Amino acid sequence: MSDINKIWFNGALRPAEECTVSVMSHALHYGSSVFEGIRAYDTPSGSVVFRLTDHIKRLRYSADVYRIPLRYSDEELVEACRETIKANGLTSAYLRPLVMRGNSGLGVIPKDMDAIDVVIIAMKWGAYLGEDGLRNGIRACITSWQRLAPNTIPPGVKAGGNYLSSQLIGWEARDRGCDEGIALGTDGLLSEGAGENIFVVTNGRILTPPGAASILKGITRSTVMTLAAELGLPLVEQAIAREQIYGADEVFMTGTAAEVTPVRQIDHITIGSGGCGPVTRQIQDAFFGLFEGKTEDRWGWLEPL
Ligand code: PMP
Repeated sequence: MSDINKIWFNGALRPAEECTVSVMSHALHYGSSVFEGIRAYDTPSGSVVFRLTDHIKRLRYSADVYRIPLRYSDEELVEACRETIKANGLTSAYLRPLVMRGNSGLGVIPKDMDAIDVVIIAMKWGAYLGEDGLRNGIRACITSWQRLAPNTIPPGVKAGGNYLSSQLIGWEARDRGCDEGIALGTDGLLSEGAGENIFVVTNGRILTPPGAASILKGITRSTVMTLAAELGLPLVEQAIAREQIYGADEVFMTGTAAEVTPVRQIDHITIGSGGCGPVTRQIQDAFFGLFEGKTEDRWGWLEPL
């Protein structure tokens, strides 16, 4: 944490070392935290925070599902995110807003509903799956660990506890010498990566598992869906069988951290020509073009710092 100067903690920017929480925090004992990952980019027309308002909306939705009262308005949180980036002298950044239940006494149902800590961290973070991965593709595997089943811990809500599943998927992938793990749902169909959504290019179409599958409906996923339509690339949300992925022409993963990362190999099977395919390149160019002034932002996604 040494390079993090100021953290927004319960309403004010404070020195990082002063931002501490209780060992009695409900979030530590029972996993009751929700969070976001957001990126700010340097663009030719100044710094922007990508889809900041949409991320804060998803944060509130996640908090609502777990009945965590968020005592700040969306506008206050949006402004707090901007302040945190600026206070750390950053122009591009990875932002981590985190809302967690604090010391509300032991017991699964918290005794004090208002013991909530809200934190916003801003830091530098490069390519999540590596620069080479971003350019030339990563090696992935389908893990034996399945993704969270529907109607258990909801995979569509971004809660800290969901990342226990992601850790199992991520560790297994690394144990097998891969950069990232892809999980199937308990229905045996393709779901998502440990921290990324997945897209499969096959027979001239881009496929991605539907929103009701065991996935987090990523904001990058929705960005890619819009950009694909803009580019005239047919994209369909549909159930994808495991074997379809091995025969795909291209596979790529998306996420705020991972951005748009090609997958060049899955379970030691080379995908397409084994690099970044032409459709993935088109999507990447359109995506990064937003921050290079090359893709027109017709959707109000680039929120000025
Ligand atoms: N799935 C999971 C499990 C994730 O952790 C993430 C990263 N937040 C995503 C998908 C992609 O979501 P987004 O594009 O909103 O970052």
